[in-house]
Amino acid sequence: MKIPSKKVVALFCLIVLVVAGAVLCHRPDPVEKSAYIMGTLVRVRAWGAGADRAVPEALERLSALEQALSANLEDSDVARVNRAGGRGVSVSSATGDLLGEALRFAGLSGGAFDPTVGALVDLWGIGTEQARVPGDEEILSALERVDWHGVRLFDGNEVRLEAGQQLDLGGIAKGYAADVLRDQLKREGIRSGLIDLGGNILVFGENPRGGKWRIGVQDPIQSRGGVLGVVELREGSVVTSGTYERFFERDGVRYHHILDPATGRPARSGLLAVTVVSPGSLEGDALTTALFVMGLDLGIALVNGLEGVEALFVTEDGRVVLSPGLEGRFTLQGEGYRLETR
Ligand code: FAD
Ligand code: MG
Repeated sequence: MKIPSKKVVALFCLIVLVVAGAVLCHRPDPVEKSAYIMGTLVRVRAWGAGADRAVPEALERLSALEQALSANLEDSDVARVNRAGGRGVSVSSATGDLLGEALRFAGLSGGAFDPTVGALVDLWGIGTEQARVPGDEEILSALERVDWHGVRLFDGNEVRLEAGQQLDLGGIAKGYAADVLRDQLKREGIRSGLIDLGGNILVFGENPRGGKWRIGVQDPIQSRGGVLGVVELREGSVVTSGTYERFFERDGVRYHHILDPATGRPARSGLLAVTVVSPGSLEGDALTTALFVMGLDLGIALVNGLEGVEALFVTEDGRVVLSPGLEGRFTLQGEGYRLETR
């Protein structure tokens, strides 16, 4: 048999290397879909076999959760509970589970997070055409109807409020939904995914683009509008709440949508935004709202006592304060800020 020349062998090896390289470096394109659900632009991106089917199914699931959890939809569990005037109402087990978690975070935050803020949300109307600054009397009267201790949850799926109370799960439901979608995508065999529910980001599996996931955090100063910095993580949730999300201005004052259940007004805690990095998005969502109301000192003390949860606070006086576990995982890009760890 004729022995191949060195040139032929070298050419053959080159072809093998190129083909192997192409196979190894091939980064499959994800399947991505966006939609407007829960009052916000949502985006689901997934890699892996079955993503073509799993991504649209995830968006359908999100719409179904909206149907159950939106205070604005007449037939939702939340709207039926709110109309019941203190009578017991049976709800889906998903709504019951979420409400149970909302009450847990209300307790954990000393009531800074309160799922019965509905009367105040309606009164201020922030984010709607009816937004206005209510009078003191109106605020006091709405405040009488805000107290999470008044919520009773029987057997996980029967809910009863005190007469006049109104549930609003807007501060936690997107986080819950992100966790539900992640679990569903995983069950369908998706190996890596990114779920973005308008500022609630959840990533799972390895980043198919290599290395850790890098999630941008928005600069809360509207006029800058860019990226405050980047958080790196292997998997988990990055949720941000801030004054820039929904607000209106009157006489030079900004009235934003995170309400302090102690005062009945938009929280004035010296913060512009809070980001929570945590394994799950439900805890991240509930905590960003709670920490924003609590402010830096109480907020960082709460976070530093919770296993696996980290936070980043942006203060009105231009500081970006990290809990210790974010050191080395957050890169500041925004200009004019001072970085601290506490
Ligand atoms: P977060 O800080 O996470 O939450 C702030 C929201 O939580 C407030 O808007 C209020 O609802 C509530 N809240 C305020 N203070 C407190 C407090 N102290 N404790 C507990 N909760 C508090 N928006 C629309 O415009 N149209 C819609 O049709 C619509 N449908 C929705 C359906 C669902 C199921 C959900 C969850 C939200 C919907 N939204 C809708 C609301 C919208 O997406 C909100 O902007 C969002 O829920 C607020 O999230 P956030 O991440 O900006 O802020
Ligand atoms: Mg929240």
